Amino acid sequence: MAQLSPLLKQATPVVVDHGEGVYLYDTEGNRNLDFTAGIGVTSTGHCHPRVVAAAQEQVGKLIHGQYTTVMHKPLLELTERLGEVLPSGLDSLFFANSGSEAVEASLRLARQATGRPNVIVFHGGFHGRTVATASMTTSGTRFSAGISPLMAGVHVAPFPNAFRYGWDVKTATDFALQELDYLFATVSAANETAAFVIEPVLGEGGYVPGNTEFFAGLRQRADEHGILLIIDEVQTGFGRTGKFWGHDHFDVRPDVVVIAKGLASGFPLSGIAASKELMSKAWPGSQGGTYGGNAVSCAAAAATLSVIQDEGLVENAAERGRQLLDGARLVADKTPAIGDVRGLGLLVGSEFTTAEGKADSATAAAVQKAAAARGLLLLTCGAHMNVVRMIPPLVVTAEQIDEALAIWADAVASVTGN
Ligand code: PMP
Repeated sequence: MAQLSPLLKQATPVVVDHGEGVYLYDTEGNRNLDFTAGIGVTSTGHCHPRVVAAAQEQVGKLIHGQYTTVMHKPLLELTERLGEVLPSGLDSLFFANSGSEAVEASLRLARQATGRPNVIVFHGGFHGRTVATASMTTSGTRFSAGISPLMAGVHVAPFPNAFRYGWDVKTATDFALQELDYLFATVSAANETAAFVIEPVLGEGGYVPGNTEFFAGLRQRADEHGILLIIDEVQTGFGRTGKFWGHDHFDVRPDVVVIAKGLASGFPLSGIAASKELMSKAWPGSQGGTYGGNAVSCAAAAATLSVIQDEGLVENAAERGRQLLDGARLVADKTPAIGDVRGLGLLVGSEFTTAEGKADSATAAAVQKAAAARGLLLLTCGAHMNVVRMIPPLVVTAEQIDEALAIWADAVASVTGN
């Protein structure tokens, strides 16, 4: 009998039968609050009726149209719809299937457009699991373990991670920018650097938000040296942080935005957006793939955008995010094992630390398990997997947040005794 590879390791014993909104119903008949949203994928909740209807209608019309041969209506319509929500000036789109592929597309574009070899990524960043994107990922050695040699030309600069350094945000930011300049002077000369690739909030790296001053520093250096600023919005886009784009919090202008996850409510679809002028510098024929911009995924994505807009999901993410963050902070106040609670919108992380301030992944894993046993599904993240994150679908209600927080408090108490 065939078996699943051990690579497909799951953190909970839950086997899902079906999903609806914020809930996942398992094969035992239990209802689970899904505060993972499939790592943020199900922006509109599981099987939102409008997304389901759009996909079903499209399946009956056209499943696949190879865009290297023909264009199809859903792709053209989605492009137009995305134009309404993308940062101004980013009016040229390329589509792929996964976040990793889209990051690779941005890397290709940056190298081809600038003719420069290097990219600078930021410590704790996650950009994917293909070999190139794993080479750009520094949120844990597990992502690049055993696959060396990694892609050359990637250099790592500090992210202003105040909690990790034990500094205030200003000190961490000054340090990070100073080290970036030092990197230019010592490792990757500015005129050899094609791009900065950065998440607005470190996702897999432990839910650490960037800040306005840091992004202003990056923008200024990008402009001064002709470096592209690529913002990876795979986890933070489409309202997740309480603004449409994660980088909207930091008032910064990207040259390229990378999108995936929340874009199509769980259908595989990703892309990059850049100005027409920049995109025209990509070498024709060098990018593409069989399934990129799949018709059903595009139809689901257009419906997703409508739902986000019509149901006010960005505003909901902001309000429910505040409720979630406040509630998580109350639990942390009573729990010495939680060293920090951080977040933006419906991305909230609680970092477990020992009495000496060291990462405590064992307690984080035990709390995740205790919560799952009580019907609340959560994920861990961070270099040491000691941050438990909450990312419910954007349709989550105040009552569901309260229910999740009550389970969270109980699960934390059951493990830590507080
Ligand atoms: N970038 C970021 C910021 C992500 O969070 C992820 C996925 N966790 C990726 C890229 C890679 O996306 P995918 O898993 O679809 O390849």
